[in-house]
This record gives sequence, C-alpha cells and structure tokens, in this order.
Amino acid sequence: MKPANSILASFGTTVFEVMTRLAMEHQTINLGQGFPDQDGPDSIKAMVDRATKEGPNQYPPMLGISELRQAVAAHGKRFYDLDVDWQTQVMVTSGATEALAASILALIEPGDEAVVFEPLYDSYVPMLRRAGAEVKLVRLQPPRWELPRDELAAAFSDKTKLILINTPMNPTSKVFDGEELSFIAGLIRQYDTYAICDEVYEHLIFDGVKHLPLITLPGMADRAIRIGSAGKTFSMTSWKVGYLTAAPNLMSLIAKAHQFLVFTTPSNLQRAVAHGLDNEQAWYTNLAVELQAKRDMLRNALTEIGFEVMPCGATYFMNADYRPLGFAGGDVDFCRHVTVEAGVTVLPVSALYATPDVDHLVRFCFCKKDEVLEGALDRLRKFFGA
Ligand code: PMP
Ligand code: GLN
Repeated sequence: MKPANSILASFGTTVFEVMTRLAMEHQTINLGQGFPDQDGPDSIKAMVDRATKEGPNQYPPMLGISELRQAVAAHGKRFYDLDVDWQTQVMVTSGATEALAASILALIEPGDEAVVFEPLYDSYVPMLRRAGAEVKLVRLQPPRWELPRDELAAAFSDKTKLILINTPMNPTSKVFDGEELSFIAGLIRQYDTYAICDEVYEHLIFDGVKHLPLITLPGMADRAIRIGSAGKTFSMTSWKVGYLTAAPNLMSLIAKAHQFLVFTTPSNLQRAVAHGLDNEQAWYTNLAVELQAKRDMLRNALTEIGFEVMPCGATYFMNADYRPLGFAGGDVDFCRHVTVEAGVTVLPVSALYATPDVDHLVRFCFCKKDEVLEGALDRLRKFFGA
C-alpha cells in the first residue's frame, strides 16, 4: 500500500489521550489531562435543553448564530475595550482547536515559517507542519519561563508568516505581560507577519493580574486573530465551542477554511454559550478565585511532599520538578511510576515539546473538587513517605 501522509503518520496519539487511558486502566486519580470535574453553570445546561426542544435543529449559519457572535463582540468590549463589528469580525468554531486549525490553513503557504514557543499545546506543530510551514521553535526556560528576546528576534525572518502565542500559557501557567507583548508586536510589525493568539485561559488568571489580548496593542488589529473557548470559560470541555475575532479580511479567509472543515457548530450549544457570555459573568470570573485557592493548596502540599513547584500564575496547571524526591528516571517514567504505584496520574511536560529536552517536570491539573485533590495528595504523601 502507498504510504499515507507522512507528517501526520510521524506523530503518535496525543499524550492527553494516552495518559487518560492509562489512568482508566489503573483506576487512578487523574490529574493529567486538563478538564474540570464539575460542570459549568446550570443556566447554560438548561439553555441547551431549551434550544434543543425549541429547535430548529438544522444547520445554523456558517459563521455562527448572531446571538453568539454578538455576545462574543460584547464580551470583548466589556473586558478589553475591543471594538469589533460582530458581522465581519467574529466567527464561531468547533472548539478553539478548530479555530487554530482554520487560522493556520487560512494563513500558511508551503514554505512559510511560523514561530512558536515551547513547551506548547500539542496541536500547534502538527497542524502548522501539515499546512506546509517550517516551524521555528523558541524555547522558554523553567522556572520563570521568561521571554528570550534575542532568540525570539533571531527566529523571525522575511519568510515568517505568523507567530502563534498562547497567553495565559499551557503548560507553563505563564501570563505574558504588556512589555513582552509589545516586544512581540514590534517584531510582528517589523517583519510584516500575523499572530494567532490562543487565549482560551483568558479568565483563569490569579493574583489580580489582568489578561491583555495582543490584538488590542497598536498596529495589531489587522494582524492578530484572537481565539477563545467556551470549554474553558464555562468548564464544559466536551462542548467544543470556540470563537475567534479578527479583522474582516482575515476573518473571511479563515471562514473559508472553516466551511470546508466543519462548516458550522451545533446551534443548541451556541445558544447556550451566548446565554452564558451575556449572563454568567459572575460565574466565570469567580472560577479564577476558586482555582486560585486550589492552586495555593496544591502548591503547599506538593512542596511539603518534596516536589520543587514552579510558579503558577494562571490556567489550571501546575508544574513541579520531582528530582528532589530521588526519582532518577525521565518524566514519562515518573508519570507511569506514580500512575501504577501510587494511583495518581500526572502529565509528562516533555510531551509538550516538539523536540524533547526538559525531562524532569510533571504537570498537575488542579481544576478538581477539593476532596479529589486531597485524595491524590494523600496517596502521594503515603507513597513518598512524606
Ligand atoms: N489551546 C490550549 C492552550 C489548550 O490547552 C486547549 C485545551 N483545551 C485548547 C486550545 C483547546 O480548546 P478546545 O477544547 O476549545 O478546542
Ligand atoms: N488542553 C487540555 C490539556 O492540556 C486537553 C486537551 C485535549 O485533551 N485535547 O490537558
């Protein structure tokens, strides 16, 4: 048989799926894959039921229902003073993952270069390469994951088509600040490129820090694509409703990719997310307060057990170095070890690098009920004799 596509064939099954399967097999407490163990607000679940009953349950408009597109535009204005025309600048997608794929397909021409930070969400590199891009990786270093400005500048060239930025960032929990984003914006202007901004954790930021969308910076309105996710904002990760905001000429191109990928997104879910964005602001802004308390609890407990915990300013992920506990193997071995022997599953951070290097960090997902986190910590305490 002729070989199929070699780029996709070269990637394995995503680490999230692998670790969750392993967790199920060993019936562990799963702090690997990122998903909350409590659903979002009841009012939006009720709206899904209502919308399904009322119908129509037929193809909604390709760009998304007007209620949701207006709600996304109003949300952008409310939080970031972002003025956009919902009709020409907002599109609904099947999750942020589809928004990323459609944006990449819309922009990349074979031979273009794309700049991406490592570690990274695992769909970026496969999709960029499949679209024909040469990926230029710029590595952030633990524990502070600071922007390596010289390396970043060196990664740009006349062939650079886009940079993909994830802030707040998975898995590092870093929030890019105004100075860092201004530096990046300067490079985008200098090299006449675009930015795909994965901002799915925009509402999950701690310690009073505010999210700053790159698209609001000078000169970025025509160059940045801002992507959000109802899965993250409303703790409904199975719904796969995303949304993007971009200048009209970019939006219409991305819409062409979207029309051939999925064409549209379930209308009952869209109505529910519109309701949520407009009416459940207290719910999604309180979520960060609850998560911050969980972060503090987890950080203290892991430190007591003997992990070296990295700073965590956002998202629901915390990274920790296990070497002080005396485990000599790599992070994949460590994750397998604690899954099988301690009954707790965590994620090897090396799996979120395109070219593995950092091999001593594991990621804990802490959007779980307190008793679940306590249960996992008890198992780890017993296992490590803490
Ligand atoms: N981007 C990042 C950084 C993520 O961590 C995730 C994981 N949920 C996504 C995008 C995907 O979001 P969605 O489920 O809306 O496709
Ligand atoms: N974004 C989630 C994480 O980082 C998982 C997404 C997925 O399973 N594809 O864990």
